Amino acid sequence: MSVANSLMAGRIVEEGLFPYPRLRDKDREVLGMMLEAIDQFLAPRHRDFKQWDRESAQPAELIQGLRDLGLFGLIIPEEHGGLGLSNAGYARVLSQSSSHDSSVSLTFGAHSSIGMKGILLFGTAEQRSRYLPKLASGEMIAAFCLTESGAGSDAASIRTHAEKNPDGTWTLNGEKIWITNGGIADLYTVFARTASDAGKISAFLVEARWPGVSHGPHEDKMGIRASSTTTVSFADVRVPAENVLDAEGKGFKVAMAILNNGRTGLGGGAVGGMKSLIALATQQAHGRKQFGEPIANFGLIREKIAQMTLECFAAESVVWMVAHYIDEGLGDYSVEAAISKVYASEAIQRGTYEALQIAAGSGFMREYPYEKAARDARILTIFEGTNEVLRLYIALSGLKDLGKTLGELRIAIDDIFNHPIKGFGVLADYAEKRLSQATGVGRDKILGKIPPQLREAAGIYEKYTVELAKAADFLLRKYGKSIAGRQHALKRVADITVDLFVGLCVLSRATSLAGHSRNPGDVGSQALAIAQVFARQARRRMAHNVRRIERNEDDEMDSLAGFILDQGRYPWDIIA
Ligand SMILES: Cc1cc2nc3c(=O)[nH]c(=O)nc-3n(C[C@H](O)[C@H](O)[C@H](O)COP(=O)(O)OP(=O)(O)OC[C@H]3O[C@@H](n4cnc5c(N)ncnc54)[C@H](O)[C@@H]3O)c2cc1C
Repeated sequence: MSVANSLMAGRIVEEGLFPYPRLRDKDREVLGMMLEAIDQFLAPRHRDFKQWDRESAQPAELIQGLRDLGLFGLIIPEEHGGLGLSNAGYARVLSQSSSHDSSVSLTFGAHSSIGMKGILLFGTAEQRSRYLPKLASGEMIAAFCLTESGAGSDAASIRTHAEKNPDGTWTLNGEKIWITNGGIADLYTVFARTASDAGKISAFLVEARWPGVSHGPHEDKMGIRASSTTTVSFADVRVPAENVLDAEGKGFKVAMAILNNGRTGLGGGAVGGMKSLIALATQQAHGRKQFGEPIANFGLIREKIAQMTLECFAAESVVWMVAHYIDEGLGDYSVEAAISKVYASEAIQRGTYEALQIAAGSGFMREYPYEKAARDARILTIFEGTNEVLRLYIALSGLKDLGKTLGELRIAIDDIFNHPIKGFGVLADYAEKRLSQATGVGRDKILGKIPPQLREAAGIYEKYTVELAKAADFLLRKYGKSIAGRQHALKRVADITVDLFVGLCVLSRATSLAGHSRNPGDVGSQALAIAQVFARQARRRMAHNVRRIERNEDDEMDSLAGFILDQGRYPWDIIA
């Protein structure tokens, strides 16, 4: 069971969380040079980024600069001409570039995170040697083509299809929408329904230069405006047999594996964005005087800066923990990856809101960077899986995994569904057992590893891990298999899981930084303070969510939504 799913069974898998992972030495070496080169290349272009945002275009000169920096080959192995960075190192690069401009990050990020990732994960030796060197140099830019007009979150309902010809080649037809790099890519990873085997999905590597491949105009977007987003169409495109990625019919698995593996890129970018917002906010707070003093002196401004910092630290902690899971080759990290995406993408939305609020009127003016930052960050809760769908995935995946836990207890999950009384309290008992372990051997194990200042925080996570297991038990008993349709409840389960997993990552990281704490003004001590405050804030959110599992207004809210959906409008007016 994965670290996150274990939480729902009342278990904190310490070995999956402690000690906090370190970047590989080889990554540090590459990053040392790379981060500086990125700053040198991007820092003088901040005015240009604004202009390109307005014009909704990225000039060829910029893309050539990204090629020259080696940014298209970050995660491609050295034997194929890339830099061979780990996921953790790659996410750090995206963090650096995103502190300058999100569209730039997206251009090489979508190429690596999703565009050509399928070749790295599933490519044959021949596909790898044919494409990776060109992808590493940026001679070929890649894009990921899954979404269609009728298939967004429900990706399995795509209509693009490929038919096998007698000579083994495929004929591909269909249209994809909102494809990042659509207008500049040379290689597309395309997902299509294959006529054989009841219309299963297969993944294909399709070159842009092949007859029948075309793309639409650059979309006029709210944010990340300079990055290329277009439709991509396939009209009777002949795809060679050797361009099927993984096995025929395995395309859906390929798509999900790519998206899961790519999530730390998005998370790393969000962290970079937050870091630059914090720098801007402190500058503004020091520079702006009102009522005769810098606004940095006001409690409400200081609270915003502290909260942004705390959330940036938390996002950083969870993103790099997940990157480490990926680099370590952990079997299944999909739930943890989803958690990192949900947390980081929402933390940066709160961060852009507060940074803009600190700058106030100036923040609203296009002359300043805040409004662009807010527009650019908005996409992060939408693409690569909406946060709603990811929350459902986090909750349902954990609940499903509980079947295995119950198997471990020699009780079939069906017993809970079929005989609610018989199954009564099984998980709660299990969780209590875990708690007694935690307060005995287990507790000593965790507490032995963390500094005394963080014991309260550890206690909070132990308590709410048990509460989560009890809540899961209650929901399974109450709703049985129909729990899949109880989205209000699933959201609460997901939110508790997010708080627990992110909080434990923070705890682990602060523990590893505690050794650097000498006085209250240093980064080690402040990291300890962050971990303490995060745990208390998380406790309040978790307590609220636990309470609302049983006592809530879900039925009333559902009924109100139904009423308004029927009306099609807000029906009250003070005139009437
Ligand atoms: C700028 C941009 C770049 C993109 N780049 C790419 C790309 O490179 N490649 C690619 O393939 N796609 C790309 N996409 C598409 C993106 O991944 C989709 O927009 C996303 O998957 C959501 O699909 P949708 O917009 O159709 O929303 P919908 O699926 O229609 O969802 C609408 C709303 O309903 C919610 N919802 C949907 N299903 C459920 C459910 N079961 N339960 C509860 N709520 C639900 C959603 O969370 C959302 O709030 C991009 C999109 C944008 C805007």
